[in-house]
Amino acid sequence: MSKVLVIGAGGVGSVAVHKMAQLVAGNGQIFSAVALASRTLAKCDAIAASVLERTGVKVDTYQIDAEEIAALTLLLMDIRPALVVNLALPYQDLAIMEACLAAGVNYMDTANYEPRHEAKFEYHWQWAYHERFAEKGLMALLGSGFDPGVTSVFAMWLKKHKLQTIRLLDILDCNGGDHGQAFATNFNPEINIREVTAPARHWEGGRFVETPAMGVKQQFDFEGVGSKTMYMMYHEELESLAKFVPEMERARFWMTFGDAYIQHLTVLQNVGMTRIDPVMYNGVEIVPLQFLKAVLPEPASLGPTTKGKTNIGDIATGQALDGSGEKTFYVKNICDHEEAYAETGNQAVSYTTGVPAMIGAALMLSGKWAGKGVFNIEQMDPDPFMDMLNAHGLPWSCEELPGPLPF
Ligand code: NDP
Repeated sequence: MSKVLVIGAGGVGSVAVHKMAQLVAGNGQIFSAVALASRTLAKCDAIAASVLERTGVKVDTYQIDAEEIAALTLLLMDIRPALVVNLALPYQDLAIMEACLAAGVNYMDTANYEPRHEAKFEYHWQWAYHERFAEKGLMALLGSGFDPGVTSVFAMWLKKHKLQTIRLLDILDCNGGDHGQAFATNFNPEINIREVTAPARHWEGGRFVETPAMGVKQQFDFEGVGSKTMYMMYHEELESLAKFVPEMERARFWMTFGDAYIQHLTVLQNVGMTRIDPVMYNGVEIVPLQFLKAVLPEPASLGPTTKGKTNIGDIATGQALDGSGEKTFYVKNICDHEEAYAETGNQAVSYTTGVPAMIGAALMLSGKWAGKGVFNIEQMDPDPFMDMLNAHGLPWSCEELPGPLPF
């Protein structure tokens, strides 16, 4: 029985708190209480009100700027949670890890650290905390969302149950949802646009190969969605998968984007609105991408209008565990936007991230996932996580394919 503190009152934080509260209401054996802290108290209070109405569970709320390490440390010492679940932005990761070390609290997140002025999301900044967490007897778990998170666990589950080795891995992320807006992003617009405008990188022959952003595209028929154009891009689980599945010859990440999204993004890039360096405007420094975020719809506001499904999964090829030669398996989850909204008041992109965040937290608090130091989700036993996906709203399927992708 443990208390958890979620930091970040966006769409993902909202889903995670709703799902944790369902467990508090159910039997309280994993989470005894859930607290929520974020920069804007009103957003925490709105989530707490929804949770109270849906589950009858009271969530305590706090205002905090998570980049203020001293203030956050004091808050942690006051609340005394067993675990902090960081669902704010990647910029806050290191500050929150520092506060956790100072207050003696375990840590978990869904997105790796990224410096504000450089679109460079890499794990080394957080891996560097391993000794300090280990010395304090604390655990930090990195990347317990969907991608990274579920996609990483899918690969490790295949390695445990189906394949001796993984030679080829393709992660396919399709959001077939329609929110009815001309242009909007399904999670934090600033983080999303930094991610998709960065050069593509994939793992091949023991190194990362860089290609221009959105330069490689293919068509794929996604179950529950239909045929979509998907673009190869860099995604952070490629780094941890390359480290923990070192035999991979090639690993790629694909994400679908509609023509309207690409057109808007191209124009925004061409006119300089996606720049992350400051420019002077009327004597004030502004970062164009941050200004753009301010005028775009909040991802959390897309819930009521989004219809359709997400379909995200891994296609892996390698030597079968049973010695029957090379085999290809496809593990995936399909999630419905409207069902996600009915349950938690948030669309499926927030849902598919918030549920695995709750599951990672539950496995840490129950001791099923344990360790001293900083760990990626690939280092944990995939089985209890896969069981909880089925039980908590993200059922998955595994099928054998005739062979790897033809491209
Ligand atoms: P949102 O922008 O909707 O929410 C982020 C929240 O963090 C907001 O409530 C924001 O406050 C709060 N916040 C920002 N800065 C601070 C700060 N300095 N101190 C305290 N709180 C702060 O984002 P999402 O909910 O869509 O995404 C949350 C996280 O999940 C992101 O890190 C994102 O990268 C990650 N993610 C991971 C995915 C995965 O599959 N692994 C997929 C999707 C998202 P305010 O409202 O005041 O701005």
